[in-house]
Amino acid sequence: MVVALLLAGLAVYAALGTAEGANATESAIPGVKQPIVKEPVEPPSVGAAIKMDGATDDAWEFIAGRDPSPSLAVLGETYNYGRQVALTFDDGPDPNVTPAVLDVLRDHELKATFFVVGRRVARNPEIVRRIVREGHSLGNHTYNHPNMADLGAGQMRNEMQSTQEAVDRALGYSYPMTLMRPPYGAPYLSDQHMRPLFQRVMRERRAYPVMWTVDSRDWELEGQAYSIAENVRAGTSKEGG
Ligand SMILES: [Zn+2]
Repeated sequence: MVVALLLAGLAVYAALGTAEGANATESAIPGVKQPIVKEPVEPPSVGAAIKMDGATDDAWEFIAGRDPSPSLAVLGETYNYGRQVALTFDDGPDPNVTPAVLDVLRDHELKATFFVVGRRVARNPEIVRRIVREGHSLGNHTYNHPNMADLGAGQMRNEMQSTQEAVDRALGYSYPMTLMRPPYGAPYLSDQHMRPLFQRVMRERRAYPVMWTVDSRDWELEGQAYSIAENVRAGTSKEGG
């Protein structure tokens, strides 16, 4: 599981023009409204036209008018928003790790965004329900955790849509995920020639790619708590931003 710290306020794109709709709640990333529609609906089938809620569509139109392929927290495109961080956790839900993470967040009254892997959502629906019940947000981290740069547009859509369906099925209602984190940071950190196609598909789906500004590298420092904490400390400026 990757623990990434994303400096907060980077959500400025999404904050601009996000409608204050009755179905929107504050997500863990300040300024980003996570639309939640509570009525149970049939999950759309893969390949069906993407139907987002009105608030997401309005926000997207506004943002895309300024930047045709918006992404959040792309490395090198970060801003200073003071001493704030957004906590994000990737690759779950995991039956061993995620409940422990949720316990710690609850003890410290912190909210986070969980970028979930669809196939794990399908296996651990009760953990997904707990994440949302305890006030955290969900983001799309694809179904099979592929390098998106290796995929064609149709495969990218399937990775996104099948994860969305798994989340909707786990929760029992439609929970359109607007935030997505591409596995391995591709095609931002590698395979950048694939970025136009990737961004086109994300735009079509009204998905905001979210990178990170600090990687704790907990995924390779298993059990070495001090080193993990030191990575976070060293990567976080005292002034924020
Ligand atoms: Zn991942």
